[in-house]
Amino acid sequence: KLPDSFVFPGITSRVVFGAGSLARTGEEIERLGSKSALVLSTPQQEEQARDLSDKLGFLGAGVFSGAAMHTPVSVTEAALEAFRTSGADCVVSLGGGSTTGLGKAIATRTGADQVVIPTTYAGSEMTDILGETQGGRKTTRRDPSILPETVIYDIDLTLSLPVAMSVTSGLNAVAHSAEGLYASNRNPVISLLAVESIRAFSQALPAIVEKPQDPEARKLAQYAAWLSGIVLGGVAMALHHKICHTLGGTFDTPHAETHAIMLPHTIAYNAVAAPGLLQPLQDIFGMKPGQGLYDLAKRIEAPTRLVDLGLTEADLDKAADIAVENPYENPRPVEREAIRQLLQDAFDGREPS
Ligand code: NAD
Repeated sequence: KLPDSFVFPGITSRVVFGAGSLARTGEEIERLGSKSALVLSTPQQEEQARDLSDKLGFLGAGVFSGAAMHTPVSVTEAALEAFRTSGADCVVSLGGGSTTGLGKAIATRTGADQVVIPTTYAGSEMTDILGETQGGRKTTRRDPSILPETVIYDIDLTLSLPVAMSVTSGLNAVAHSAEGLYASNRNPVISLLAVESIRAFSQALPAIVEKPQDPEARKLAQYAAWLSGIVLGGVAMALHHKICHTLGGTFDTPHAETHAIMLPHTIAYNAVAAPGLLQPLQDIFGMKPGQGLYDLAKRIEAPTRLVDLGLTEADLDKAADIAVENPYENPRPVEREAIRQLLQDAFDGREPS
């Protein structure tokens, strides 16, 4: 049913999509009117970053390869120093959400333009959201200066993403879209993108598990990741993201795995209160939304148990307490006992109740 009124926030990032599009990075830097770019990466992707910086010729101002999970401010300060001494006026972030986060942190402090080249399915490149950590605390904010100007989706770069990471990163993206369907500020365009991305991932992820180098499956997954990134940036997230932020922030559980494990449970919890809004999931999977996601997770051998992330049952008590404090707006009231049970199901890897 079409809502009576809504706000569509717009989509302003430029997107260059396709195999081999990495070669267009220089053209895109120049298009932004920038003189040269510092290429960012994690230590694991430093070689790729150096290769890109070399290929950029006079547009490449060097590499900073210290990007880390959750954008620690100490890393950003070191990167800012490298950015200043390099003389660059633009950053190129080559990698997953951690590298994109560092590029955003530099851009919002310096006004530098960003070209992001995502190599996972996390979706950060499409959002004006930045989460940073300092002194063990994570703070998240939104600002227009955080949103990347240009995104280059080169499928070839995702071929190296290990199957296990492809699966969890893909489910992280599915989580953005699933929560987008019942977002309090949803709109019909974002809902279309959400449904399309879940449908695409439900085909792409099993195909990647079967044949990791399949270019068609990789193309479909990256297309889906783009759409779910728009959903994440475009509407408010709810219970699922709150619980994952709680677990990641308090117990340092790995980002994508946490999302993958929690997703069937949080969606099952909310499906009771928003059956109509989650009907597209029922249509895609041919079963209840939570069951459908659990079934998909099993088929693609995704992690399903919080206990495997090193959590204890005592941690679940604490997580349930935090999750019910200042809850995000959610279709179903966030009740402590029900949340504790949901966490227990996820801990044990049971089918969602
Ligand atoms: P990540 O960026 O931390 O990457 C994990 C590891 O995989 C890194 O070592 C990375 O170098 C490596 N890697 C990435 N792509 C690869 C490839 N194609 N081949 C081989 N190795 C590769 O993981 P992530 O899940 O993409 O990002 C998680 C981070 O992003 C979290 O900090 C999360 O909070 C943040 N995030 C932010 C937003 C936002 O909108 N602000 C959205 C999603 C995620």
